[in-house]
Amino acid sequence: MKKKPVVTIDGPAGSGKSTISRLLAARFSFFYLDTGALYRALAYLVDEDGREDIEKAATEISGNARFEIKNENGAFLISVNGKDVSAHIRSEKMGLLASKISAIPAVRQNLLEIQRGLAARGGVIAEGRDMGTVVFPEAGIKFYMEASVKKRAHRRYLELASRKEAVNIAEIESDIIRRDRQDKERATAPLRIPKKAIVIDTTDKSIPEVVEEMSLAIERYMYSP
Ligand code: C5P
Repeated sequence: MKKKPVVTIDGPAGSGKSTISRLLAARFSFFYLDTGALYRALAYLVDEDGREDIEKAATEISGNARFEIKNENGAFLISVNGKDVSAHIRSEKMGLLASKISAIPAVRQNLLEIQRGLAARGGVIAEGRDMGTVVFPEAGIKFYMEASVKKRAHRRYLELASRKEAVNIAEIESDIIRRDRQDKERATAPLRIPKKAIVIDTTDKSIPEVVEEMSLAIERYMYSP
């Protein structure tokens, strides 16, 4: 068997990356690396910092941030500078602010080595927007997940509603469109289909179907000579 691979999963908000990454990590006993959570945790600190000059604040904060991440009983826990922020970073507000600060080149640069360090031993499912293109261009297996805007908005609606957050489907849809635009049009590490990535459209597929399809591809890679 080959060394345990780094598996990258890129794609837009609501494509199913997080759910599927979690399930794949459990199935293969790999480490789940949710890189969006790093940007969200920074967004949380920038919001708390309160400075008007977001670019300056985000650059400074990301340069000194100490992250600690853990996979615990299927949950992804993240602390930054000693504070567990896991429960504070999943709102739409943090998603949009994360998207904004993630367009700053110095912020991306500051997170680059941190992400590589976290995956150095292999056996990782690395999920984000630039995993296969920039952070892990040599990854063993690359996936790109996508789904229609309507479907992605509906999934997000169910997720937020289950957490009892006030939700409005039209607003969620426009947030998704805005975030897609920010992530795809930024100059540094825009969201793109990585070279050699397996593209999975999850619009009309069930979660088990997607997990099965992706697991087969991972097994094929791991057990090929
Ligand atoms: O995936 P998630 O919605 O948690 O990511 C929040 C935001 O962080 C994304 O909209 C994107 O702008 C940014 N991000 C990124 N690169 C990554 C992961 C997330 O730019 N690798």
